Formats: sequence, C-alpha cells, structure tokens
Amino acid sequence: MAGVPKVVIVGAGFGGLQCAKKLEGKPVEVTLLDRNNYHLFTPLLYQVASSLLNPSDIAQPVRSILRGHRNLVFRQAEVTGADFEAKVVHTKDSGDFAYDYLVIAAGSTTNFFGVASAEERAEGLKDLSEALGLRNHTLHCLEEAAATASLEEAKPWLTFVVVGGGPTGVEYSGALSELVRGVLPREYPELSRDDVRVVLVEGLPSLLPVFPEDLGDNARRALEARHVEVITGVRVTDATEDKVTLSNGEVIAARTLVWAAGVKPAELAAALDVERARNGRIEVDDALRVKGHKDVFAIGDVASFMQDGKQVPMLSAPAMQAGRTAAANILHAIAGEPLKRFHYHDKGSMATVGKGAAVAQVGRFHFHGYIGWLMWLGVHIYYLIGFRNRLVVLAGWAWNYVRSDRPVRIIAKAK
Ligand SMILES: Cc1cc2nc3c(=O)[nH]c(=O)nc-3n(C[C@H](O)[C@H](O)[C@H](O)COP(=O)(O)OP(=O)(O)OC[C@H]3O[C@@H](n4cnc5c(N)ncnc54)[C@H](O)[C@@H]3O)c2cc1C
Repeated sequence: MAGVPKVVIVGAGFGGLQCAKKLEGKPVEVTLLDRNNYHLFTPLLYQVASSLLNPSDIAQPVRSILRGHRNLVFRQAEVTGADFEAKVVHTKDSGDFAYDYLVIAAGSTTNFFGVASAEERAEGLKDLSEALGLRNHTLHCLEEAAATASLEEAKPWLTFVVVGGGPTGVEYSGALSELVRGVLPREYPELSRDDVRVVLVEGLPSLLPVFPEDLGDNARRALEARHVEVITGVRVTDATEDKVTLSNGEVIAARTLVWAAGVKPAELAAALDVERARNGRIEVDDALRVKGHKDVFAIGDVASFMQDGKQVPMLSAPAMQAGRTAAANILHAIAGEPLKRFHYHDKGSMATVGKGAAVAQVGRFHFHGYIGWLMWLGVHIYYLIGFRNRLVVLAGWAWNYVRSDRPVRIIAKAK
C-alpha cells in the first residue's frame, strides 16, 4: 500500500486494538506495536493468579487477531520514545518506525504510592507474568506451610494480605479465599483451613469506592461471608519478607503481600516530550490529540481526557471507545474534515466476589448476588476475544461451579 498515510499504534491493549480494527480496510497502512505478542483480557487476570484459568484462556496472540487484515501489521517491540519533529518512534531493539499519525495506547502500570518496601516485596497483579508469579507464590506458600513443624511457623505462610479495595483487590481476595480454603481440606491434611487468613486492606472508608455505597457494602458482606477479613480506612506503610505494617500500627505476620491498590500511566508517558496531568497521564484535547501535536493521539489509561470536570477513568470501556474515536479522527484528518469530539458513554461497572456473588451498576440500577453474578458472567464472556477462549473459560467456570475446584495448581517456573 505505497503512498498511503502510515499510522503507528503503540499498545495492543483495549484501546490500541480497537483503533487498529477500526482502520481495517481503510486507505492507511497501520503498524501495531506491543512489547508483548498478545492482547490481554485483564478483567480475568485474577482468575489466572487464583488457579482457575490458564494464561492462554485470557490472552490472544495479536497476529491471530489481525489475521487476514492486509493493511494491519503487528511488530513485537518495546517503544522507548518518539521524535515528534522527525515523526518516528524509537524502540528498544527493533529500530525506529516512521509515522504520519501516531496513537499512544500504552496503558498503565502499578502505583505503589511511594511505599518503597512494598514495591520491592509485593506481588503485583498487572500483567500475565505477575499473575503467574503470584499463582506460583501462593501455591508455594501452601507447600511451605505443610512442611513446617508448628502452627506458629505455618501461620505467616497461610496469611495473605491483599492491598486495594477496588475491583481487582475485591475479586482477587474472594477468589484466593475460595482457592486456599477449598484446596486445603482435600489436599493438605497437615493443615486446617481455619488457620488461613485472607486480609483485604483498603485506605478509603469503604470497598469499591467508584461504585455506589450500597454495592461496596454488599461486596464487603459477601467477602466476609467467604472468610475474607476486610480492613478499611487503613494503609500499608511498610513491608518485609514476613511482616506487613499498617497505618493503625497493626503488624501482620504474612509471607504474602499482593498489591492491587492503584495504577499510574505507563512509563512511556514520562519518556515523551508531552504535557502531562498531575497524575502523569498525557493531556489530550477534545478530539484525543496530544496537546501541541496535531498528528499524535493518546487514548486509554495513558491519556488524561477531561469530561464533566473529571478525568475519564482508567477502565477498558473508555479505552475502547477512545480507540474507535481516534481511528475515526485519523480518517477525518486525512480527508481534511473536522475532527469528532470524544464523549465517553458510561454503561456501568461490575465486580464479582466469588461464586454466585457480584455487584453491578447499570445506569441508576444496582444489582448484587446471583443476578449480579450472571450479568458479570455474560458481559465478560461477551467481551473476551476468541471463540475458543470463550468456550474454555465457560467450561472452567462450570467446572468450578459444580466441583468448587480451581484446577490449574501447577508451580511452573520460567527459566
Ligand atoms: C488485574 C486488572 C483487572 C482489571 N479489571 C477491569 C475490569 O474488570 N473492567 C474494566 O473496565 N477495566 C479493568 N481493568 C482496567 C483495564 O485493564 C484498563 O483500563 C485497560 O486495559 C486500558 O486499556 P489501554 O488500551 O489503555 O491499556 P492496556 O489494555 O493496558 O494496553 C496497553 C498495551 O500497551 C503495551 N505497552 C505498554 N508500554 C509499552 C511500550 N513502551 N512499548 C510497547 N508496548 C507497550 C502493553 O503491553 C499493553 O499491551 C483491569 C486492570 C487490571 C490490571
């Protein structure tokens, strides 16, 4: 396709992929760059970390998604910076990529809010390698606990502190409790499930702060019914190999600290010569163009788009919607037409707490319990990419529903 404008998209996540797909068959040559060769469905990542699903069930090779789309090309490359004058992006090991239009969709990374000891020590839950690391670690803790000589020694191995009462922390702590308490009586006769502690710590006064209060309260009750101890209004201030210190002075003897407390824009944002908001997200105009750069767009978690006086949240739906608008605006710009103003349509939020329990907000309607859970299942299956993945995930959920079993309990170490 010589002679047509070149579009480079950095990031094959929710936003980048939608943008690329929207440009399929259009008179542009699109190069999609990502440091990983797969698209990750992050909402189900915690199910990999809690031994219910395999990585391949929630991740799809980008090349297989783009198969047959002749104007869309994928390159695995880590972008390190860009020269906006020369119109090229630089990569770590794969050279430079020239563009006429650039879309930055690099997502976000974990925010430790300056707690350096936690950053050093905590397990993350942001990408596939972290989820696998967390799965290995959790299973290893059970092995270590089983090998101890006394209950006193076993307890820190059986105590799991999860930080962050947003959807990821809530979903993971519910799933972890199901995993550990389900597996222990069947496979670890040396241990008692009454000695397991899953502690969820949230700095704000209630869980799921972005949800209506009644749903946060409902999630708390559902977690407590699953033996998760919920502590709100308290932060983690320090962490060592076997202790977690809280801002109320409490010290918890725990070998596991899982950090699900927050995100900040991907490192790439700081490497670019662009205006950024206080939280580091790249400032964009109404049409999603990076301020001062009319041929560079930023979308999703990495971008600060203001609507009704607030930044649009770091969620998959705004990223996907922005991806589609950025694509449309690139085509408008090429045609010399006025660009479309982006508007995020919030269709609702949901989070699950465990088998048969979820909370959901759709417009002014609130759902919880079984109905919320069925809605959660439907939405996640609908948005998961790939027919095979949908089948396998449904089968995994059905297996867990009937057998209360999380079968992917392999401690698989990468070299
Ligand atoms: C565990 C977890 C659970 C979540 N659950 C939900 C949920 O239930 N509902 C919801 O709406 N949202 C959820 N989110 C948030 C959601 O994942 C993000 O808001 C969404 O992914 C943002 O889309 P994006 O396109 O901006 O970034 P991403 O989807 O994160 O994609 C960014 C892509 O850029 C790539 N990348 C980053 N830096 C570079 C670089 N320098 N060079 C090349 N490639 C790069 C990354 O590999 C990644 O593929 C969850 C997030 C996590 C971590």
